[in-house]
Amino acid sequence: MNTRLIEELKSYKNLQVVAVSKKRTKEQIDEMAKTGLTTFGENRVQEFLEKYDPAYTWHIIGHLQTNKVKYIIGKVDMIESLDSEKLALEIEKQASKQDLVQKVLVQIKISNDPLKTGLAYEEAASFLEKISTLKHIQVKGFMCVATHTEDMDLVAKEFEAMHSLYTEMKAIYPQIDTLSMGMSHDYKIAIEHGSNMVRIGTALFE
Ligand SMILES: *Cc1c(COP(=O)(O)O)cnc(C)c1O
Repeated sequence: MNTRLIEELKSYKNLQVVAVSKKRTKEQIDEMAKTGLTTFGENRVQEFLEKYDPAYTWHIIGHLQTNKVKYIIGKVDMIESLDSEKLALEIEKQASKQDLVQKVLVQIKISNDPLKTGLAYEEAASFLEKISTLKHIQVKGFMCVATHTEDMDLVAKEFEAMHSLYTEMKAIYPQIDTLSMGMSHDYKIAIEHGSNMVRIGTALFE
């Protein structure tokens, strides 16, 4: 566990930290929680359900299949990986059944990696408008994964573009307050470019 990094992250004002606990054991999660970091990110539903503990706050950060939504509503605080209208409709349906409002982030595919999921940047505005009628979904902002590269200028450019999108959409939808970007290798650049939520796994747990 990287206590120096934990202290560093705590020193930022207005920064939420999601400790990405995929592939970590429940014991490691409990240890991390003792440091005060109690929000955990999981990318697979099955793995999340095995480790779920209502004492902590949980985010789903990986691509979510519609048939899995019913297992997580009521357990996850935030779904960070909303990337299609079909998924939005299923979240709406399941959240409505439990009479709750599910917080979500819209995942934007900002990188040029063909394997990465997410909505196209250009589609974000019309997507938000389309799903704004859904009463059991509250869009809190955006999530992205930057291109995995040594080219930090490219990464900075991508984060900057995300920050502009966030600022523009926040002006239209006042409930938007979260920009989730930055992982182990690029969280500093992300914070410099306006991120207020980082998702860090490797650097925290190792
Ligand atoms: C795994 C993962 C992270 C954390 O990555 P690290 O490099 O381990 O910090 C962040 N976001 C998403 C979407 C992930 O899948």
